[in-house]
Amino acid sequence: MGKARWWRETGESVTCLLCPHACTLKPEQEGVCRARIGGEKTLKIPGYGFLTAEALDPIEKKPLYHFLPGRTVWSIGFAGCNMDCPFCQNSRIAMSPAGTGTFISPKETVDRARRIRAEMVAYTYSEPTIHIEYIEDTAAEAAKAGLKNVLVTNGCLNVKPARELLAHIDGVNIDLKSWNATYYRDVLGGKLASVKKIIEIAAELCWLEITTLVVPGDNDGTEEMANMCDWISSLSRQIPLHLSAYHPAKRYSKPPTSPASMNVLAGIAEEKLDFVYIGNIGTENNTACPECGQTVIRRSFYDTELKMTGGRCPSCGKAIPGVF
Ligand code: SF4
Repeated sequence: MGKARWWRETGESVTCLLCPHACTLKPEQEGVCRARIGGEKTLKIPGYGFLTAEALDPIEKKPLYHFLPGRTVWSIGFAGCNMDCPFCQNSRIAMSPAGTGTFISPKETVDRARRIRAEMVAYTYSEPTIHIEYIEDTAAEAAKAGLKNVLVTNGCLNVKPARELLAHIDGVNIDLKSWNATYYRDVLGGKLASVKKIIEIAAELCWLEITTLVVPGDNDGTEEMANMCDWISSLSRQIPLHLSAYHPAKRYSKPPTSPASMNVLAGIAEEKLDFVYIGNIGTENNTACPECGQTVIRRSFYDTELKMTGGRCPSCGKAIPGVF
């Protein structure tokens, strides 16, 4: 078992300092995330190194569209999650107790990535950051081996651990699930202000893209989308935004988001951001130069073709933001 960090003693209990839930746990009591458990004057992480999923993916699947496009990434996932989205697509893994899966050491994860000729390791699927200790150990091994590190997260994390973790990460995709703080708290079990802060830190420390799953009736208001994109744009209008269509899952059975609604919301986002992509409805998602409109990256499902050299538009020479 790895050694848990980010906690302090609180009388007979311990308080976890990793995420905004600040769970105060008696011995053997599980945190909201199920991955971190109270012990005698300690915090236990019995799921250290237990992976629930391993797969070789195109980087576009994370999704990251401006980070080494067309390359492959060794993706690993863990049990547990510190939010409770009622439409979760990964709920079986997210609800699993600590210790579910197979133990794979950080070094073995990196060895597997190298053997399969992946150029990156991604910490992804349910919520990886509740396994911060394993990610940091693995990311250090991966960096030593010349591999990049990628994180896909809900951003439900406190500032200090986020700064430390993101310093190990080269590319990150963070969910921004709504622009409504009450909805974030009451429906999703998260905290909008914390997610915004983590996005700001990520924008400073590594390559950042954002994903919003559009759920009909929950977060598909045009004013909400405009306000959210105004804020993203205030950080940088070059941050790519992925608008992903919801499909029924977990406790939600309402119909999927319509392509018409996705197109309306993408149109609003495109007024404020240079790179807006629509996911989960089978549309083409090429990258166009924001200066002259020339296609600079062509994508067909997970087939990717770079049409630029040195990260510049072949037509007008504008630098396209990203890691290429
Ligand atoms: S990481 Fe888990 S145990 Fe720690 S505060 Fe968040 S939900 Fe609670």
